[in-house]
Amino acid sequence: KKQGKDQVAVFEPAMRESFQKHLELEADLRRAVLRHEFELRFQPIVRLRTEEISGLEALVRWQHPERGMIPPLEFIPLAEETGLIVPIGEWVLREACRQAARWNAQRDGQTPLTVSVNLSAVQLERADLPQLVEAALADSGLPAKCLIIELTESLLVDHRPETLRRLEEIKALGVRLAIDDFGTGYSSLAYLRNFPVDIIKIDKSFVDDIGDMPAAAALTLGIIQLGQALQLSTVAEGIEDAGQLSELAGGNCELGQGYYFAEPLTAAALDNLLFPPRE
Ligand code: C2E
Ligand code: MG
Ligand code: MG
Ligand code: MG
Repeated sequence: KKQGKDQVAVFEPAMRESFQKHLELEADLRRAVLRHEFELRFQPIVRLRTEEISGLEALVRWQHPERGMIPPLEFIPLAEETGLIVPIGEWVLREACRQAARWNAQRDGQTPLTVSVNLSAVQLERADLPQLVEAALADSGLPAKCLIIELTESLLVDHRPETLRRLEEIKALGVRLAIDDFGTGYSSLAYLRNFPVDIIKIDKSFVDDIGDMPAAAALTLGIIQLGQALQLSTVAEGIEDAGQLSELAGGNCELGQGYYFAEPLTAAALDNLLFPPRE
């Protein structure tokens, strides 16, 4: 305002409003980090053959004091832009490991659950990421084999040379790596050769069309076979009905997640699902 009316006049009112909203959201996000306004949801990942739970994907939520629950796609980009994804992501990783270790301790005798954590490219730019992963495992007591780090294709396509080294350090701990949203990037195959990947997560868009688009079904089955040939696990994302499940299970897709099985759940809801209270 101090620069005079002319300066402001170049903004369309709508543009100015969205710019102000952006600044407001950024201030709110900084405060949210200090006040711990984030929560995790956990979505079960199931073995398609038996429908038993094999692991959980941790998904962050922002519980905004006035606006209520804000989904990750509405604040992760801003968190990445401002670098706030670093403290947020550290909290997500530590909290996910802590909860998984707690559930596994109560499930003695059963196969331990895995926990999958999404990492953003900004977190991979940090030289101390492998040490952070190591500390999250040590502090929670979660065995490294129970942790899966999810990365998107774009992260692997535009990677810097240090990225590969960092991922190899993380792998050396015994942690597994998954490619998220597989099939949506523009160069899906070259990096499968260059990166130490263990798991392919087939993007929901393929699963959505599997029943009514022969091309989607063929591509999905092709991805599953590619995974098998490379000895990678395959996880189908966004399974919403029994038809999709039977197509995927019939194609020998190992694992899946989606509203058909369960939505992302609070830790308390998972306590009840994993350890049903006896009447
Ligand atoms: P993603 O990692 O691909 O996670 C799967 C998303 O699909 C989740 O959305 C989940 O709630 C949703 N989903 C699962 N099953 C179904 C289904 O059957 N139908 C439909 N319509 N949706 C389903 P969510 O929780 O909103 O997360 C969106 C994205 O935000 C994630 O996609 C991930 O890329 C990012 N994200 C979430 N948590 C974190 C985090 O802690 N760190 C980072 N860096 N990114 C995160
Ligand atoms: Mg994911
Ligand atoms: Mg995904
Ligand atoms: Mg996605």
